[in-house]
Amino acid sequence: MRFIADRMLGKLCTWLRILGYDTVYAADLGVKVEDEDRVILSFAAQESRILLTRDRDMIRAASRRGIRCVFVHSEEVMEQLKELIRYEPGINLEPVPCRCSECNGELRKVEKGEEAVLQAKSYVPMAKIGKCDFWLCKTCGRVYWEGSHWRNMRLQLQRLTKSCS
Ligand SMILES: [Zn+2]
Repeated sequence: MRFIADRMLGKLCTWLRILGYDTVYAADLGVKVEDEDRVILSFAAQESRILLTRDRDMIRAASRRGIRCVFVHSEEVMEQLKELIRYEPGINLEPVPCRCSECNGELRKVEKGEEAVLQAKSYVPMAKIGKCDFWLCKTCGRVYWEGSHWRNMRLQLQRLTKSCS
């Protein structure tokens, strides 16, 4: 399952990447705003991505072209995820370190002997190096590790799962 999300859904995009889903954000396409809708639609069609949008005209245009799409009603990201679960009940709700939440690039595990890569990033806590797993984005070089933000995310996702059942 892969997605493409419109400009209104930046946060949802981040969450889907954290859940391991390949999700393209419209604002990252680097096209002129007037061309954006057209590019989003052809991208979704070419790569069989599910279009996530808050724009009814886009839903109509996507449906005409046979593109799978979800109209997102809510403005709040947890509610948006709930809407997605209603559309696709099999969606994964556990954080998976395989997509960069910033750029959608693939992550790879930082191996032993690569500590210099971690030390070069000012935001990586030195005390953690050697004590937990780290991942590196193959595209933008951002480093990730299982910190407190992941625990918070898990809690939010558990709450979400409960409220859906
Ligand atoms: Zn990245």
